[in-house]
Amino acid sequence: MKRYDTETLAVTDPRGRSDGGESRAVVPPLHLSTAFEMKDSGGDYKYSRMGNPTRDELESTLARLEGAEHSIAVSSGMSAISTVCLSVLSPGDRVVSSESIYSGTRRMFEGLLKPMGVDVVYVDATDPQNVADAVDGDTKIVWAESPTNPLLKLCDIRGVADIVADAVFVVDNTFSTPCLQKPLELGADAVVYSATKFLNGHNDALGGAVVTDDDELAEGFRFVGEAALGAVAPAFNCYLVRRGLKTLPARMERHVENAEAVARFLEDHPRIERVYYPGLENHPQHDLATEQMDGYGGVVSFEVEGGVEEAEAVLRGLDIFNVAVSLGGVESLIEHTATMSAERMTDEERAEAGISDSLLRAPVGIENADDLVDDLRSALSDAYA
Ligand SMILES: *Cc1c(COP(=O)(O)O)cnc(C)c1O
Repeated sequence: MKRYDTETLAVTDPRGRSDGGESRAVVPPLHLSTAFEMKDSGGDYKYSRMGNPTRDELESTLARLEGAEHSIAVSSGMSAISTVCLSVLSPGDRVVSSESIYSGTRRMFEGLLKPMGVDVVYVDATDPQNVADAVDGDTKIVWAESPTNPLLKLCDIRGVADIVADAVFVVDNTFSTPCLQKPLELGADAVVYSATKFLNGHNDALGGAVVTDDDELAEGFRFVGEAALGAVAPAFNCYLVRRGLKTLPARMERHVENAEAVARFLEDHPRIERVYYPGLENHPQHDLATEQMDGYGGVVSFEVEGGVEEAEAVLRGLDIFNVAVSLGGVESLIEHTATMSAERMTDEERAEAGISDSLLRAPVGIENADDLVDDLRSALSDAYA
């Protein structure tokens, strides 16, 4: 059978065109109905929590992009993460997690899993051996992200997959998207997304997804996501994320291009102490990034000279970058991580995580790259005038 590329599969399914209904609309309609007519034996749908045509449309697109058998669309990245954990784990089990994970994931591990009697241990997952050393007979989940937030560290996905035999290896692929990295092909068992970020891409809808090739896992995810938690994505959000996905390959190309331009500009700037971007040759895992990813991602982190005051002065001078948390939308954003995302952490925890007072994290949007560089140049020159 002919293989189609991601750019095509994001827009359409050449093997089974979307059902536009009686109107034969090119864009499938948004189905807000929560219930479906069942007289005369009914059709494929009954009640929207258990299945909805607009959600199906998104789920099949996600599965297609990932080259996966199953996908379930849920209401946020956190509900994707909770759905996976609650369907796999029981009291007494262990999770071996990378120490560099999304702060909300860590809060969930600490505040929900641990009180439930699940043991969670954190390791430096940049070296698969550390994961291997922590996995024991009770380990049911191995959890990693790559690249990580905010320091863009990588996890050797194939390396970890090779040593995880019995546990479910889950990769949070939010930063990479299926356009830049396909963890299932590298040996992961399940992939989770915050669709709020690049997948939707327009900073206007919350969403999440879980993708897997494993029938049994998928059945568990569906039971927990739909029947038990009712964490399914609302139809309108499914519609928006599905629309966003059509331009995902085109947007990712531009995000990567712009992020590289920003990273190279910052690397040479005298007021910048350090730049974190997997596409730079001096990134400690640049070779792994080249091998594992099809593009180095759209997020750049960097440390300015000085501390909180200087970092905030740079933010005040920016006209294009929005000072905001979140990432992955067409708009360029920038945050002072220590005060905006890691404010719940103690000073020691921040130091341990490598989050210095002068660290800024910039998800680079799809605006003109020269304009973005000029915005940073002038904000830096004003801040250090
Ligand atoms: C934002 C994010 C999440 C959480 O997603 P929500 O949609 O906010 O629930 C999980 N993982 C990563 C890497 C994220 O960036």
